[in-house]
Amino acid sequence: MNTEQRIHPLSPLLASQIAAGEVIERPASIVKEFVENSIDAGATLIEIRLLEGGCDLIEIRDNGIGIHYDDLALAFTAHATSKISQVNDLFDIHSYGFRGEALASVASIARVSLTSVRSGAAHAGCVVVDNGIAQPVTPCAHPKGTRILVERLFHTIPARKKFLKSPRAEWARVDDVLIGLMLANPHVSFNVEHNHQSIYQLQRAEEAFAPQRLSRLISEGFVEHALAVDVAGDGWTLKGVIASPRYTRGVSDQQWWLINGRMVKDRALSFAVKLAYDDLIHGHRHPAFVLSLSIDPSLIDVNVHPAKTEVRFADARTLADGIRYAVRDRLAALTVSSTVLSHPTLPERSSSASITQFLPQSRHTDSTWSAQVQAELRWQSNISDADGVLIDPVYVCEPEPPVYASVEAVPAVDMPLGQARAQLHGVYILAESAQGMVLVDMHAAHERIVYEKLKRQWESSWASQPLLIPVLVSLTATQSALLQEAEGLLQDKGFVLDWLGEQQVALRAIPSLLSQAKAEPLLLDMLTALSQHKGSVAHFLERHRDQLLSTMACHGAVRANRQLSIAEMNALLRQMEQTPNIGQCNHGRPTWIEMDMNALDALFLRGR
Ligand code: ADP
Ligand code: MG
Repeated sequence: MNTEQRIHPLSPLLASQIAAGEVIERPASIVKEFVENSIDAGATLIEIRLLEGGCDLIEIRDNGIGIHYDDLALAFTAHATSKISQVNDLFDIHSYGFRGEALASVASIARVSLTSVRSGAAHAGCVVVDNGIAQPVTPCAHPKGTRILVERLFHTIPARKKFLKSPRAEWARVDDVLIGLMLANPHVSFNVEHNHQSIYQLQRAEEAFAPQRLSRLISEGFVEHALAVDVAGDGWTLKGVIASPRYTRGVSDQQWWLINGRMVKDRALSFAVKLAYDDLIHGHRHPAFVLSLSIDPSLIDVNVHPAKTEVRFADARTLADGIRYAVRDRLAALTVSSTVLSHPTLPERSSSASITQFLPQSRHTDSTWSAQVQAELRWQSNISDADGVLIDPVYVCEPEPPVYASVEAVPAVDMPLGQARAQLHGVYILAESAQGMVLVDMHAAHERIVYEKLKRQWESSWASQPLLIPVLVSLTATQSALLQEAEGLLQDKGFVLDWLGEQQVALRAIPSLLSQAKAEPLLLDMLTALSQHKGSVAHFLERHRDQLLSTMACHGAVRANRQLSIAEMNALLRQMEQTPNIGQCNHGRPTWIEMDMNALDALFLRGR
């Protein structure tokens, strides 16, 4: 260490260059700062032109209020801003900018030309600042607004220039920033050009999340599967669009957060949304969404990072939970009829009852599944009448009717999934719907039905279904310890078991909701699910209850190769129509698909 070294203040240029390191890492940061300035200036049209991902040139023009001639030099001074003036303003910020750093920072590491005019001014002003050295402001001609040109980025700082990636990679980052800004500012028209090619031409839209803009900025598929979200929580509101579980992504690239209008990457909030889709999409897929959170500004801090791409919440956990449940409820409201078919509402309870009149009269059946569905439904109608189980036990368990003449009279709109016609290879149900044909994966669909029922019934005790012959189950020491801990819970849920020794139990009854299940694998899989988490069973249930229920539902669902009668198949279809989240099984696979007549006719080249 040189003992001659003494303390001295940094030169203003070096101080700016250090500050620039925090805000300006690459062309994308410049585009973000300057487009935000244009929006802060009230622009309704912003034109952006780049060469080589912005490494060679960035030009931004707007029709905003412009900068006063006498302020043009000052705009480049560090900590000079028109947006706040006292510390309290920090807690009530309505603009993107407020730190007064961007122009000074960029001008310290590049050559920036700024031309601007205020409305009513005699002429515009123009100033060039090259690596911190400002030339005098000169009068010039310019239409309304401001134009900024950035060239020779990091020209004098090779160490920083080295960190730039290829122009293509830099453009990808710019694109990401621009998409965020364009989503957040529907009222602004944008023209974006890269390497002399027009990339975006977006007209201003009246409403937020206008389909045209979403389909251009995200994808057409996203818009086709869009579900509007509009919920209010405690001190916050959440608006925007989420994609139904049928539209997912291999990576989390279509997840956009606006927090009080500011584009933010917030992993905790995105994770909360992912949890809401947990049992609807495959574990390796990611949901797509554009969500705008408005929250009392006193509950957040946007000033965590100079680039303001992160925020801190006063109570992040409660907020994340609130968002998770809001999204989950929105997805649960997704019924068969609201997803694909135009029929706007589900049949009311009364109309569901009226369906029964078209169904054949009761006849005895010895099909076990029928009997079990019947038992299940009877039990269910006792317990959960209140939460709207619409299926009438009278008709679901009927044996195969000879002819379905009268059923055809039921208006198909009341039955979006149509009438069952056949079972294919023990796996699929073929149904005729108003639009065409529907294919249902019966195990996947029934699994979802059972799962949703289990969730709904979780708070109450469950009825038992005695086993004709008790099932002996041998356990490992770990399993037996777990079972002992979970025994009270299992009893409450309808399992009856006797210990025959330290590591053997006799299962005498299982929940009647799971009467389809084979008792031994059901029990063992439940223990496996419980064993995957450290900590007590109580803690497991608090955090991962649905995982246990999903395991149970898989066992409780009708297996492939089970022969179903037409009536049973219809019962399944009708139950599906009343079940939330029915589009996917618990593992995220689709449960049904529909092909309309146009698609079928096209296959056969009919009418062409
Ligand atoms: P901040 O945005 O934090 O205030 P900047 O360094 O980005 O800091 O900009 C400094 C000032 O220059 C702003 O406060 C604003 O008054 C003015 N300014 C910058 N860009 C524009 C623009 N496009 N139109 C009008 N004024 C602008
Ligand atoms: Mg700014």
